[in-house]
Parts: sequence; C-alpha cells; structure tokens
Amino acid sequence: MYDVDSFIAELERRNPSQEEFIQAAREVVSNVIDVVNDNPQYIRNKILERITEPDRVISFKVEWEDDNGEIQVNKGYRVQFNNALGPYKGGLRFHSSVTLGGLKFLGFEQIFKNALTSLPMGGGKGGSDFSARGRSDAEILRFCRSFMTELYKYIGPDTDVPAGDIGVGAREIGFLYGQYKRIVGENTGVLTGKTLGWGGSLVRPEATGFGTMYFADEMLRQAGDTLAGKRIAVSGFGNVAWGAVLKAAELGAKVVTISGPDGYILDEEGVSTPEKAAFMLQLRASNNDVVKPYADKFHCQFVPGRKPWEVPVDMAFPCAIQNELDLEDARTLVSNGCRYVVETSNMGVTAQAMDYLLEKEIPLAPGKAANAGGVAVSGLEMSQNAQHLYWTRQEVDSRLRHIMSQIHSACVKDGRQDDGYINYVKGANIAGFRKVADAMCQQGY
Ligand code: GLU
Repeated sequence: MYDVDSFIAELERRNPSQEEFIQAAREVVSNVIDVVNDNPQYIRNKILERITEPDRVISFKVEWEDDNGEIQVNKGYRVQFNNALGPYKGGLRFHSSVTLGGLKFLGFEQIFKNALTSLPMGGGKGGSDFSARGRSDAEILRFCRSFMTELYKYIGPDTDVPAGDIGVGAREIGFLYGQYKRIVGENTGVLTGKTLGWGGSLVRPEATGFGTMYFADEMLRQAGDTLAGKRIAVSGFGNVAWGAVLKAAELGAKVVTISGPDGYILDEEGVSTPEKAAFMLQLRASNNDVVKPYADKFHCQFVPGRKPWEVPVDMAFPCAIQNELDLEDARTLVSNGCRYVVETSNMGVTAQAMDYLLEKEIPLAPGKAANAGGVAVSGLEMSQNAQHLYWTRQEVDSRLRHIMSQIHSACVKDGRQDDGYINYVKGANIAGFRKVADAMCQQGY
C-alpha cells in the first residue's frame, strides 16, 4: 500500500531542488493513489516508481556567436520521460527561467496530457535557458542551429518529436528544422508546428487556444451554462493567448485582459477584432516581451507590474507560465464573482490556489486537459506527414473539437464527486494515468 507523503518524501530525496517537478508529481500521485492501491497489477509493476523517473535526460552545451562576435554558452536539454504510448512528444521551451527540474515537471505533465488525447504519443520536453529578448533574428538563427546540431542525435519521427513552447514558435521551428534537414538529409515529421507549405498542419498555430475554448465550452454546457456573453481574463500575449482570444470572440465571449511581464492590458471593448489579435503576433515577433504597446495603439488601460486576476470577470484563463495564479489571486477572483478557472498554461495555478478553488467547488480545468489541443494537433500533423498529405482546415478543426470533447468526457467520468461537483483535476489525472499504467504493465519492465 502506498502513502502519498512517504512516496513524495522519497521522490524529493532522489530529486533535490526540483520543486516544480515535485509539485506536479504530488498532484498526480495524490489523485491516483487509490486507483494504484486498488490495483495489484500497478503495485506489482511498480508503476508509481517507474512513471516518476524519466527514461532518460539528455543535457548538452549550446555555443553560439552573438552579433558582436562574442561567444555565448547556453544549456540545452531533452527529457525523454515515458514512451509507453508512442514516440516521446512535447515542446521545446527557450526561456531564461528554464532549468532541468522545470523541464522534468513539463515532461511529466506531458505524459498524461498526451495520453488524454488518445493519440499514440509518449511524453517528453526540452529546451534551453536561452532568451530571445533583445536578440536579433540572426542571433536566434545561430542559436537554433547550434541547439539542433546536438539535439538531432536523439530525435526522429518515430522516436522523439519535439515542437514549440514558450519562446519557440514557427520562426524557431523553421530554423531548427532547416538544420536537422541539413545534417540528416531527410524531410521527415521530426518536428511539429512547422509552417504550412513544408509539412505543417492547418490549425496548429491556433490549436492550443482553440482547444482550451472548446474545452471551456463543454465545461459550461456541463454546468447548464454557455460561453456567450462571458467576461474573461486571459494572461499572456503569446501564441496560446492569441488562439484563445480569437475563439472566444467567435463563441460570443469577451476577453478583457491580456498580460506580459511588464503588466496587464484592460480592454473593456474586448480583445476581439482581427486587428487586435494580429497585433499580439507582432508583439511576440518584436522579441521585446512587453504588452504596453497594445494600450498605446488601441487606447485602453495598461496596469504596470500587476497580474490581470484583480479584474472582475466570470472566467479566468491563465495562458502564460507555471504558477502564475496563486492563492491570493484565486481568493480575489472568487470574491469578485469568478465562476470558472481554465488553466491553459502548464501548471498555471499554484498547489495552494488549486486546493482553494477545489474546496470552493469552482469548476477548474487542469492544463493537461484544457491545453491538450496543441499537442493533439501536433499528433494530427504527424499523421499527415506520415501519409504525405495535407488535411483541410475543417478536417483538422473537427478532429480537434472531437478530441477536446472526449477529454472532457473522460474528466467527467473519473472526476465526478458524490455531490455532483466535477473535479476535473482528479478526473484528468486518473484517466491519463490509467492509459499509461496499463500500457506499462502490458509491455513489462
Ligand atoms: N508545448 C505544447 C504543450 O505544452 C505542445 C507540445 C507539442 O505540440 O508537442 O503541450
């Protein structure tokens, strides 16, 4: 019989100073502990011990030259966490905050997220502490080339398929793919998030943001409610936030905030026009990592140095980075009447904030369910690449919608409490865990 506290204490001992990984593991382990203790197969196969240890961690040096001719050195990683369900799959994050512990939390989350999509993908994650802030496109190109010159040895269309994440968008994927092709001499689906025209999929850029709104739409329907007319706070201004504001507008909801490291924008008219959404892409492409120019351009309020969770809204969508919504933010949101929280960044809600929201019985979608649309369409990109075909926008979008609806049903099935409240966090963890654990039992150690 397992006990959460002693299992986590041992995990902490073996993985010192990896707080985010321990936070992610504690959430999953505490949700699945009863499932494990009730299943002698899972105990005999040591699933908990094996699923919390990555298959391998690759760590390498990335040397590159900046525009002044000075040599720069960054860290590079790929965490290949679990491939029970398919090739390792997960993004690359280029951000100054990247550490090995952070990538282990992301790779661990990815295992269950990818399982929830029901597509054949294992879990992995990688990245670097490189930051594009203030860098020229030529510097980004040189960095990406050097990064791939190491990474290419460990990846392949049937072994490990990286994609984008924070700091890695279509531009970086292009540079990385170009270098892979130069070295290996093959056009394969080794990366996803490629540009349409050389192997990319329609709807992949929008997929995470669209997917989270499709998931939210299902959640509201489950609660006898609707997205139409809802006032929404979104954080972040990158690819995920962009897709979310586009789909929210289409479904009749109003996003009133976006944010950056410099503060947040309060746009009472809604971040709803194509022009506003297009400007978000320009902000990201500028490599400045600030949102204030949006307020200057569209004549709305900019609140420096603060998070958007103080704005009264019906729904909150953290779309930026881990642990961006803490206990105090959760209390403020609830006291201002917020009724739903849809975690769209990976582990965007702190453990304390999560406990509080669950205790208040606020419907709370965990990132591994709500943001699975991105990796799901990556999976569809892999299918198209394997067939040497492109699917239509409608085909990809309807499959995405179907996948998000299936994930929602899985969460409801395993997360429904006796009082009727749906604990989406628990539902997602149990449903994702079971698929991976069963595969591990069937494949032997
Ligand atoms: N980085 C995204 C995620 O967190 C997408 C990964 C992928 O497409 O492989 O799920």
